[in-house]
Amino acid sequence: MDAIRQAILDGVAGDELARIPLPETMRAAVVRKSEVDMFGDRPTRDKDPRESLHVDEVPIPPLGPNEVLIAPMASALNYNTVWTSIFEPLPTFGFLEKLGREGDLGARHDLDYHIVGSDAAGVVLRTGPGVTQWKPGDRVTVHCNSVDLEGPEGHEDSMLDASQRIWGFETNFGSLADISLVRANQLMPMPTHLAWEEAASLGLVMATSYRMLVGENAARMKQGDIVLIWGATGGIGGFATQFVLNGGGIPVCVVSSEEKAEVLRDIGVQHVIDRKAEGYRFLDDDGTPDMDEIRRFGSRIRELVGRDPDIVFEHPGRHTFAASVIVCKRGGTVVTCASTSGYMHTYDNRHLWMRLKKIVGSHFANYNEAWEANRLVDLGMIHPILSKTYPLEQAAQGAYEMHHNQHAGKIGVLVGAPEEGLGVLDQAKRERHAEGIKTFRAFD
Ligand code: NAP
Repeated sequence: MDAIRQAILDGVAGDELARIPLPETMRAAVVRKSEVDMFGDRPTRDKDPRESLHVDEVPIPPLGPNEVLIAPMASALNYNTVWTSIFEPLPTFGFLEKLGREGDLGARHDLDYHIVGSDAAGVVLRTGPGVTQWKPGDRVTVHCNSVDLEGPEGHEDSMLDASQRIWGFETNFGSLADISLVRANQLMPMPTHLAWEEAASLGLVMATSYRMLVGENAARMKQGDIVLIWGATGGIGGFATQFVLNGGGIPVCVVSSEEKAEVLRDIGVQHVIDRKAEGYRFLDDDGTPDMDEIRRFGSRIRELVGRDPDIVFEHPGRHTFAASVIVCKRGGTVVTCASTSGYMHTYDNRHLWMRLKKIVGSHFANYNEAWEANRLVDLGMIHPILSKTYPLEQAAQGAYEMHHNQHAGKIGVLVGAPEEGLGVLDQAKRERHAEGIKTFRAFD
């Protein structure tokens, strides 16, 4: 692996890279099937990714048709790796077993270890039969939507394909490894002004936020819309905030510290609510919504922007969902992609139907949406929100911090890259966007 890594760092030509033999084994961050019950009945909070996420030596995955082997130079942590490493809501080996029943190519994924990770920036090493658009040496980022498109359902929107899976979560051979297996139709050109770890931190969360707010398939924000954004310096929230600003909307950002609020002000956000300082608690002890608290929150938003939000960017779930539905304006949209604090939501449905509001479910993004979001980064309109990086061996520490909400923006993982800051091709362009790129570094 050292020879490949060095060749990439030296920028050797693709055909030369393709001639360097692949090793038989590689490093990979995995959870083990033998350990899925290791946490017993510990509360969710006490399940520790540092106990379950290991860096093991495993074989290189075999390459199939329309697939590509890439060497991730960097990856980034997503919340799905937290779920995988605490085996909640279910162990991800169930996904791999199901995929294993879908023919020879699927069977490769059904192993007693799961290589996790759904974001990467790296270099193409080998291409399988049928790949025409990519070749060894190409610098790429990876869109984590894995689809067959054999049936008709996905041909308008690949997120509707029956085979749709999140790479490195519902498939094996994810990005926290020296070599990863992806489909050719997951690749995107790496923005030329970014370092490996910055480019790797974009994919999953950026495309998710793009679909939720900008694309045709969810809330379809327009100029002047007021958008309430929960977790506005988190992974999806950090990109949501940028998309709203870039698209002529007015973000009302919710965070839990003054430090986070300050970073948002730095990028031009005028309206920030520190939920911790203002002490909101939207559910009573018995789990029912506290209407007084929700009204207090709604009044605060009106005080800031003069009216109710057109769109609520929702993902904390159980703790905030009732508030999101109620504070959303008459006829407005609550767009949701997650339930970090619990997926059984309680809210007063009268507020939904009597005020003609919509709840729109959204999940990741199709290739086109991800490509368009990537293009905005390449144009310098949207920037990475990387706050820190860990080497592969310490990826579990990053997952622990994410689990405990001790991070902001994205946590990167250096895989092939020996240090941060490598991989930039266009320094002049980088200097033009230097202000945007450095914002979230304030948290490092
Ligand atoms: P993240 O980086 O951890 O950010 C989440 C933010 O939410 C935190 O920074 C926190 O901000 C806020 N938050 C957490 N618990 C909260 C609560 N109880 N009440 C209010 N705010 C709370 O995570 P992420 O990467 O943005 O992902 C967020 C969720 O979306 C996760 O559940 C993830 O699995 C899911 N997700 C889904 C998709 C999809 O395609 N369906 C894609 C990406 C992510 P403050 O503490 O500053 O308020």
